[in-house]
Amino acid sequence: MLTYCKRCVMPSTKPDLHLDDDGVCNACRSFQARKEVDWGARRIELETILRRYRREDGSNWDCIVPVSGGKDSTFQVIQVLKLGMNPLCVTASTCDLTEIGRRNIENLKQLGVDCIEMSPNPLVRAKLNRIGLVQVGDISWPEHVGIFTVPVRAAIQFNIPLIIWGENSQNEYGGPAAAAKNNVLNRVWLEEFGGLLGLRVSDLIGFEGITRKDIIPYLYPDESELQRVQITGLFLGYYLPWDGLSNSLIAQAYGFEVAPTATLGSMVNYENLDNYQTAIHEYFKFIKFGFGRATDHACLHIRRGRLSREMGLEIVKRLDGKFPWEYLGKPLAEILRPLNLTVEEFVKICDRFTNKKIFKRDSAGALVRDRDGNLTKINSDNV
Ligand SMILES: [Zn+2]
Repeated sequence: MLTYCKRCVMPSTKPDLHLDDDGVCNACRSFQARKEVDWGARRIELETILRRYRREDGSNWDCIVPVSGGKDSTFQVIQVLKLGMNPLCVTASTCDLTEIGRRNIENLKQLGVDCIEMSPNPLVRAKLNRIGLVQVGDISWPEHVGIFTVPVRAAIQFNIPLIIWGENSQNEYGGPAAAAKNNVLNRVWLEEFGGLLGLRVSDLIGFEGITRKDIIPYLYPDESELQRVQITGLFLGYYLPWDGLSNSLIAQAYGFEVAPTATLGSMVNYENLDNYQTAIHEYFKFIKFGFGRATDHACLHIRRGRLSREMGLEIVKRLDGKFPWEYLGKPLAEILRPLNLTVEEFVKICDRFTNKKIFKRDSAGALVRDRDGNLTKINSDNV
């Protein structure tokens, strides 16, 4: 049976989530601690750091800002420009960029910034998607590696020491305390929390004909290169109050486009808009750990007093973990085609990664699915 945090609706099956003696999760505790933060002092701290890296003579960019074109990166660029920095924005392309995602990247450029888009070899990427899905149950594995390695590579290439990341996902979503306090991102963070799931990039050589040259974009640079440019990074979310909804509202005021309705398996329409494979990634989180994107959002809104826990539970039950038949208008079969997988093969992979302790099975042991292919949680009412 799943145990839930008493304040939000996160189950204890979430990796790195810890419930304390009062039954409250570390993400809720971490958010509580943020209310005590002296944001004025943090902002001064940020301005002091930025002053050190600003090229007053205009001889180079002041910093790298990794951008996906999403609401948070649009907000990041708006803030960095307001802070008087001239950023080089770096986009590590998503696995299967959506039309709305493309429009949002173009909109971001219109904020008035230089931007580099790194689009890794799509044939290699499709192999990596397949390996990620089959080996560790995460189709987005190469994307989650690339969004951390590509900007660092660009920083070295262009001799720009400062990288301004968005938020430390461990801070709000819940992770070990030491990591949540960390406001810089480095190789250790990437390997531990960046979503590598024990599958190391260098392990891929030899898999499905992958060679060393195929994985250049996914390798974190050498220590000697990092030292040469004196690469350092900071999380903007440590210095400025960070809230997805308000970031989205601000981004929309600057032309960021949202979806017409909440996306599949989610309760909001303003994020996860840039990759057709996202629903598969979120669905695997659900079958492995028993919670989906709607849970993530319900928790964020409950902590901020915008949603009651009771309503959150109802919304989660309604929306979480829908089988990903389509996403943002693209059917599952088409999404799987580059991976050389059929829907039937995909369902078999799903079954292999489904946590049988969480979902109902019939007397023969097969997972119970409704007409739409959705699973049913055991004891889902017992919260
Ligand atoms: Zn909680």
